Amino acid sequence: MNNIKNRIDSDLIKKAEVLLEESKQIAIIPHSGPDGDAIGSSLALYQYLKKKGKEPKIISPSDYPVFLNWLPQNSEVLIFPSNKKKAKDYLKSSDLVFIVDHNSFKRSGDLEKILQDLPAKKIMIDHHPEPEHIVDLMFSDTAMCATCELMYEFIEALGDENLIDTHIAECLYTGIVTDTGGLSYNSSNPRTYQIVGDLLARGIDKSKIHSNVYDNFSTDRMKLLGHCLDQGLEVLSEYQTAIITLTKDDLLRFNYKDGDTEGFVNYPLSIQGMLASVIFIEKEDMVKISFRSKGNVPINAVAAEHFNGGGHMNAAGGRTTDKLSEAIAKFKKVLPDFYKSLDV
Ligand code: 5GP
Ligand code: MN
Repeated sequence: MNNIKNRIDSDLIKKAEVLLEESKQIAIIPHSGPDGDAIGSSLALYQYLKKKGKEPKIISPSDYPVFLNWLPQNSEVLIFPSNKKKAKDYLKSSDLVFIVDHNSFKRSGDLEKILQDLPAKKIMIDHHPEPEHIVDLMFSDTAMCATCELMYEFIEALGDENLIDTHIAECLYTGIVTDTGGLSYNSSNPRTYQIVGDLLARGIDKSKIHSNVYDNFSTDRMKLLGHCLDQGLEVLSEYQTAIITLTKDDLLRFNYKDGDTEGFVNYPLSIQGMLASVIFIEKEDMVKISFRSKGNVPINAVAAEHFNGGGHMNAAGGRTTDKLSEAIAKFKKVLPDFYKSLDV
């Protein structure tokens, strides 16, 4: 078999080694509205640092879906809005802060201002495009399918792969599968499978993880999905694009809980010929929009240029304070030019 190597820059890892050596109290910050990759990579890093004799703490800018609550050490995550004083005090006396699965303080939600002004040294571990230069050391690689993949490389490059136990492996695997739709997209690098193979060898129960993450719909959530695909779906065949709309009333009717709409936006991409799919979700004070695309369709450009967001080429997010109908009208207005610009 080809010898597929670790992809971390050796000079950079030496610097990280020094920073880690000098630090005791370490904060780990996932992005606001964290997903499986953000929480998985944060919990993996947390457990690794504990094994190294450090005092780490994960401070999440906001709460996250219940289907991630089974992750090892989940109860150690401090949710900022309900622990503001404790979190602020901890950050103030931290030697080092890890910015995980995001690359701009704008994505740190309520922690944005606090992190900006914090004198502690900072390390970024992330795989999103166009990182902002806001840290002392940046581990940023858009070729990684997930921050969890990069986290594996980070730990291995530090010479500590022997510290990756079953629990850490479960966290890393969860981030890799959730960020790739179960290893379906953005996951064609053989190295990813070498890493997955290694995680399996460390004793993870793949079926249990899949069941915990995916087979945990409430009946309401399943019906909400049915509603989205029946009443909420509009297919714009001319532009190979589908739109799903969810109103505040829909959410109320199906007893919406945080995380319930996770993954819904992917479904229309299974319609023959679709290149892009967008979901508009009417929340209390804004409309949250998720964008997905296939292949060489940079849907993140639409998110960044028109909807105060951004993300990866095939998976991006944004928001607007416009009314739901206005947000959709705006998307339909910019879609023809975007479609024309594509090389399809
Ligand atoms: P989701 O649709 O699941 O919220 O987000 C999809 C992807 O886009 C994720 O990788 C997420 O990090 C990114 N993303 C979501 N919202 C924003 C945003 O407001 N700004 C940027 N830069 N990226 C976002
Ligand atoms: Mn990610």
